[in-house]
Amino acid sequence: MAGKAAGKAAGAALKAPAFAYAKPASLAEALELLARPGAKVLAGGQSLIPSLNMRLSSPELLVDIGSIEQLKHIELKNGAIHIGALVTHASLETSETVRKHVPLLAQAVPHVAHAAIRNRGTLGGSLALADPAAEYPAVAVALEAVFEIAGKNSTRRVGAAEFFKGLFETDLKAGELLTAVEFPVAKPADKSVFLELARRNGDYAIVGLAAHNDRFVFLGAGDRPVQFSFRNNLEEAKANLEANLKPSADLYHTAATKLHLAGVLLERAWNTR
Ligand SMILES: Cc1cc2nc3c(=O)[nH]c(=O)nc-3n(C[C@H](O)[C@H](O)[C@H](O)COP(=O)(O)OP(=O)(O)OC[C@H]3O[C@@H](n4cnc5c(N)ncnc54)[C@H](O)[C@@H]3O)c2cc1C
Repeated sequence: MAGKAAGKAAGAALKAPAFAYAKPASLAEALELLARPGAKVLAGGQSLIPSLNMRLSSPELLVDIGSIEQLKHIELKNGAIHIGALVTHASLETSETVRKHVPLLAQAVPHVAHAAIRNRGTLGGSLALADPAAEYPAVAVALEAVFEIAGKNSTRRVGAAEFFKGLFETDLKAGELLTAVEFPVAKPADKSVFLELARRNGDYAIVGLAAHNDRFVFLGAGDRPVQFSFRNNLEEAKANLEANLKPSADLYHTAATKLHLAGVLLERAWNTR
């Protein structure tokens, strides 16, 4: 279906630019389609559709991966939890496996957007988008998750810290699909805390923190998740943060406010672990 044609039928131009649309039923078919120039993945559409409506991108072909069942699993395999890219925020939120084995992720999910968006938005969509204020990228870096990526003729695995390259920029190449994420199973002695400050419940974070043992990963504080390793006392950790975290101001908060809030979260996380 071409978006523009449908708009004309309704008597008005659509907001999105014209695009072709395909809904493959298998991963192999999706990768074949994604190898075409100008093709783009459509997952939950919660970020992509608004960006098309604002004409921030104009793909020639949208490849809707929503019917590919093999991207919807949550399973324990070889000592790790494998989560398919198409698993929705809502499914993560209600998964007993995630709650039990990846508690840091379970703590983060309720902070992602609002219930309606959580019903459609996906793990893979959030990670591939790489919004620096999103929760999952920081969680993935804190847990040293591994990303499984497929192209038409290849598959590869990339560590979370290497996957995020900058503002909305990842290691994904043209034609590649993030297919799944592998999270280590939490050990009894692990200490995991997710905290964030937002203007309203469900808004993107002003600043957030995914803390796992001695790794402290901040969101909303740089162009990608910003990772620190703090082992000693809190005062030293706060001084290190103050000296090295360089958040940018956003529409509502100065860089100094964000740095202060990051310190508040660090102290809260330190004291609750
Ligand atoms: C009002 C509002 C509030 C929100 N608040 C938050 C929030 O607080 N925290 C938060 O994290 N998010 C928030 N979001 C975004 C939401 O979490 C989205 O669900 C998510 O960012 C994108 O997931 P999606 O499945 O909808 O992806 P889509 O919108 O379909 O795709 C997003 C991008 O990722 C690409 N993509 C998608 N899946 C894959 C894949 N498997 N492999 C390769 N590329 C892929 C697409 O091509 C596109 O470029 C909010 C969105 C809205 C509209």
